[in-house]
Amino acid sequence: MTQATKTDVLIVGAGPVGLFAVFELGLLDLKCHLIDILDRPGGQCAELYPEKPIYDIPAWPVISGQGLVDRLMEQISPFDPQFTFNRIVAGLERLPDGGFRVTTDEGEAFEAKVVVIAAGGGSFQPKRPPIPGIEAYEGKSVFYAVRRMEEFRGENLLIVGGGDSALDWTLNLQPVARRLTLVHRRPEFRAAPDSVNKMLALKEAGKIDFQVGQVRALSGENGMLKSAMVKGPDDEVEIACTRLLPFFGLTMKLGPVAEWGINLNENLIPVDTEKFETSEPGIFAIGDINHYPGKLKLILSGFHEAALMAQAAKRIVHPNEKVVFQYTTSSTSLQKKLGVV
Ligand code: FAD
Repeated sequence: MTQATKTDVLIVGAGPVGLFAVFELGLLDLKCHLIDILDRPGGQCAELYPEKPIYDIPAWPVISGQGLVDRLMEQISPFDPQFTFNRIVAGLERLPDGGFRVTTDEGEAFEAKVVVIAAGGGSFQPKRPPIPGIEAYEGKSVFYAVRRMEEFRGENLLIVGGGDSALDWTLNLQPVARRLTLVHRRPEFRAAPDSVNKMLALKEAGKIDFQVGQVRALSGENGMLKSAMVKGPDDEVEIACTRLLPFFGLTMKLGPVAEWGINLNENLIPVDTEKFETSEPGIFAIGDINHYPGKLKLILSGFHEAALMAQAAKRIVHPNEKVVFQYTTSSTSLQKKLGVV
């Protein structure tokens, strides 16, 4: 059997909620190890909207998705959390001592007294448009997310889709692109009306092109795009492009979490609102993955859930220690843990 890495709390998912859980658990002297499918921390904030402004994080009137992740990483650094990236948490079994053994798709093993599922929407995958041979261009000239706008500077962009992502990126990337064409299968959009109006104004001003139709074929060499064939209502047109950004939405797959014997409700994990514990004692679920009456899929809700979960986790890991409620402003003991005194 593989030698297991031991920790107090194993957190599945390093999204904003998993990251903040490290802070709350750290204040209670619990060590954490986080595992994520992605290659870096931040979950949806880092993967789907790193440069978009968020306006409803308490005390941050505006902060970008990546900015929030960077601040969280700074905030949890005193607790020295351990990360394993590019791994799916695949297996979970209970050990005779009541703890858990967690395994990844690459065969690593972890043992923890408590497991916190902060898996968001599960493993989220962009929907691939039905264009033959598109796989050969993915990651080179076809992208399903914008991590850094600068990477698209001076490129001939083709954006496909009619929802908020397609419209938002049309507006945001127009100033940096050499030329930008938006393609949607019909002239009506599902995006916010304000974004649609702004896009139409850019079109009227000749700053972008808009084409009704569907991308049928791509041409290029060694993964680098040269053009796309777009079938419109009347004819087929060839559009020169060096980068293609299809925004066809995301499929959220719960993935292996579904096989861990925890009660589920429509792919979400029901929890109580005192401890955010699942149907399995010692396994907690916080953030977008959980469900309870009144649940809001907001980052700030996940932060609150992490704080309450941590109190319950402490009682499991250190059953003989009394949990004393303390403020970070006035507790020297908490401040020592944070390294500020
Ligand atoms: P996620 O951010 O989804 O992170 C979960 C992580 O778990 C992911 O990194 C995933 O890879 C990993 N994971 C899943 N399954 C496994 C597994 N089996 N093994 C290993 N890793 C796994 N919220 C707000 O409060 N304000 C906003 O303004 C706002 N704007 C948004 C804009 C957009 C475009 C989107 C898409 C969302 C927005 N949200 C906003 C919602 C917010 O991003 C989510 O509520 C938040 O990301 C949830 O955090 P989380 O940590 O629970 O999950």
